[in-house]
Amino acid sequence: MLRGWRIALCALVFVLLSACSAQPTGLAAQVDVQRLEADTRYLSQTIGPRPVGSEAERVTADWLAERLRELGFREEDNTLQWQSLEVNGTTCRNLTAVCNAALTEEFLVIVAHYDTVPDAPGARDNGGSVAAALEAARILGPLCEAMPVQVRILFAAAEETGFHGSAAWVQALSEEERAWCAGAFNMDISVTSDPEAIFVVRTLGARTENGYVQGDAIAPAHNAVSRAAERAYQTLYGATDADNGTEYRAPRHYGESDQVSFNAAGIDAANLCWRRPDGDFDLLPVEYHKPTDTADELDFSTLETTARCLMLGLELLAAELS
Ligand SMILES: [Zn+2]
Repeated sequence: MLRGWRIALCALVFVLLSACSAQPTGLAAQVDVQRLEADTRYLSQTIGPRPVGSEAERVTADWLAERLRELGFREEDNTLQWQSLEVNGTTCRNLTAVCNAALTEEFLVIVAHYDTVPDAPGARDNGGSVAAALEAARILGPLCEAMPVQVRILFAAAEETGFHGSAAWVQALSEEERAWCAGAFNMDISVTSDPEAIFVVRTLGARTENGYVQGDAIAPAHNAVSRAAERAYQTLYGATDADNGTEYRAPRHYGESDQVSFNAAGIDAANLCWRRPDGDFDLLPVEYHKPTDTADELDFSTLETTARCLMLGLELLAAELS
C-alpha cells in the first residue's frame, strides 16, 4: 500500500516537474500572445489585402516603421533601414530593424514578408509572422544585452510575386556580410486554425565542411537554423522526432518562401511554419490566398509557439557563435 502511494507521489512530482519545464525562460518568456493577436488583426482587418504596388502595401510599411520607431529603432542611426526595389513596374520597400548594430562580424536574420496576394487579408499569410517579427523587435529592441550578436529583422516586400524583396536584400549584402550571415529564421504561415496542423521547419540547404550542400525531399538539409529551431521546440514543448504523430517532425525540403533567397546565396535558412501533414506532403491551409484568410478562426497559441521557438532558437544559435 505504502509502495503504491510512493509511486503515486513520484508520478505527481514528475508531472509537476514536466509542467514546469514547459515554462519558457529568457527571451521566449517575453512573448506576449495578446500583442501577437492584436497586430495580426490590425494587419488583416484594419489594413486588409496589401498586394505589391498597392496603397495598402505602402501604408503597411509606414505603419511598421512607426511601430519600430516607437521601440527605439531610428533611420538617423541606421537601426532602421529602408531598401527600395522595382517589381513589375512599381516600387516597393523592404524595412529592416537592426538590434545590436555596434556588434560586428557574425549576425542573425529574422524574416517575415508583409505583402499579400490581391483580395486576401493575409492573416495566416503573412500577418501572423509579421506580428511575430514585430514582437521580436519589441523584445530585442535596438540594444539587447542578452543577445550576444547583431540581429537584423527584415520586413520583406514582394514575396508573393517571387521572393523579390528578400532576393534584393540578400543581393545588397557584401560578400563579407554573406559569409558573416550565420542564419535566417523565416516565418511564413506561422499561425494556424487547423487542429491537424503541426509545427514544421522547412529548409533547402546547409553549410557543411565541404561547402554549401542542397538537400532534397528524401534527405532534407538540417542546417544551423533548423537545428536551433528544433532544439527550441524540444526544450519548450518536449516533443522529439521519434514522437510520431506529435506536433513536430524533422526538417522538410520545401522552398515556397523567402528562405529561397538565402539558400541561393549559400546562407543557412529555414521557414518556421504550421502545415497539415498528409503522407509525405505538407498541406497549405484551405484559406491560402483567399478572402477567407482572416484572423477570426486562428488559434493564436500556435503563433505564440512559433514566436517562442524563434526567440529561443535565436538565443541557442547566438550562444554557439559567441
Ligand atoms: Zn507567404
